[in-house]
Amino acid sequence: MSNQESKPNNATPLPAVVEFRDVCKVWNAGTRGEFKALEHLNFCIDDLPGKGEFIAILGPSGCGKSTLLNLLAGFHEVFPPTSGEILVRGEPVQGPGIDRGMVFQKYSSFPHLTVLQNVAFGMRLNREKMGFSHAEILERSREWIKKVGLEAHEAKYPHQLSGGQQQRVALARTLVLKPKIILMDEPFSALDEPTRLEMQRMLMDLWLEVEATVLMVTHSIAEAVFLGDRVWLFSHAPGRIQKEFNDIPKADPALHPLVMQGRKEFQEVVEQVAAAFREIEKGKPVKG
Ligand code: ADP
Repeated sequence: MSNQESKPNNATPLPAVVEFRDVCKVWNAGTRGEFKALEHLNFCIDDLPGKGEFIAILGPSGCGKSTLLNLLAGFHEVFPPTSGEILVRGEPVQGPGIDRGMVFQKYSSFPHLTVLQNVAFGMRLNREKMGFSHAEILERSREWIKKVGLEAHEAKYPHQLSGGQQQRVALARTLVLKPKIILMDEPFSALDEPTRLEMQRMLMDLWLEVEATVLMVTHSIAEAVFLGDRVWLFSHAPGRIQKEFNDIPKADPALHPLVMQGRKEFQEVVEQVAAAFREIEKGKPVKG
């Protein structure tokens, strides 16, 4: 293929965690406002037992990155695709499910619920499916509130928290449900730089613990290279994976992101990605 989209791999013994087969999404089809957000999008994320993959997605604004995440989440505002198939563990996606959790850029917690109530919300909603007692829900909620460093804040409401703290609540709300696929749409882009770095470090620790597959859209090349096992660079709309970077220096969770990001081998990859991004922005084809 001219671009770096990975093809479905029929030799894989376990069904892929996520597979997009020739997915297209056209908005306002048949009207003057018709817009092709995604076209012929094919990729496959294999199941890596005992560990998930972290895929960071970069691309020009409006190229369909959020559309991809929302389709995979099965959100009714976007789902289904105009054509093509989306599979999770070999089963066609039919709508939202607790196997997929989303963290948005904007603070998405319920304003009228406390931190504890927000984190418990998803488990309460899915109590029967998850089989938790009320006591277990409380215990798990507190455990995750502690993991994201908010143990002193469980009785507060979202408006009483800083931006970084609100995103910690969003992470805890999602991760407490132990989704095997975590979708993140620019989760840290509204945060100041020190808070963002702190959140990157925390996410790295938590991700190693939850062993989920992550697809994260970001505008920050450094963030993509720091967190990603693979970085996908999207073309302008209709969005496709124009180039994949997978030879990325492994981040050492013991190191502060700034130390890691200051290293020569890290900066070299950032420069390669940035150069490919500049070509896409200029509308030039990028070599695979
Ligand atoms: P990105 O996340 O890459 O910035 P999006 O996936 O949000 O891009 O959007 C891709 C394109 O689809 C944009 O041009 C956007 O205007 C369009 N789009 C997104 N949602 C809708 C919608 N509900 N109706 C019509 N067009 C939409």
